[in-house]
Amino acid sequence: MAKTYDPQNIFAKILRGEIPNKTVLETEHSLAFHDIAPQAPHHVLVIPKGAYVCYDDFALEASEAEIVDFTRAVGEVCRMLGVQPGEGGAGFRLISNAGDNGLQEVPHLHVHILAGRRLGRMLP
Ligand code: IMP
Repeated sequence: MAKTYDPQNIFAKILRGEIPNKTVLETEHSLAFHDIAPQAPHHVLVIPKGAYVCYDDFALEASEAEIVDFTRAVGEVCRMLGVQPGEGGAGFRLISNAGDNGLQEVPHLHVHILAGRRLGRMLP
């Protein structure tokens, strides 16, 4: 079942230019910007420009061009931050919260890129 997308969510407002953001990268189908409340020295959010709530509807409904663009945008931001492992960077973590149990606050698909410090273990 398609999820209901709320066009008033804060990331939709950022995409429409109604709220400012600190852009890191903009591509045809994606936007990356600094998180307003960083949890690590590097904390960047990457979002698709399309109206997707989370990975579930994105994976089902997005075009291959959107999916490739989004995936490459995440990798490109990591390279821009210089955190890609094995090439001088010390690594990063990707997180995408979904729904109530995932504690998703903003109902527009986003991936958190966290880097710049040793991150605590998240899985048991
Ligand atoms: P979630 O809990 O995975 O939905 O994360 C939402 C993230 O959006 C949080 O880390 C917030 O700090 C971040 N956030 C909320 N409003 C803004 C904004 O206007 N600009 C940038 N980041 C935001």
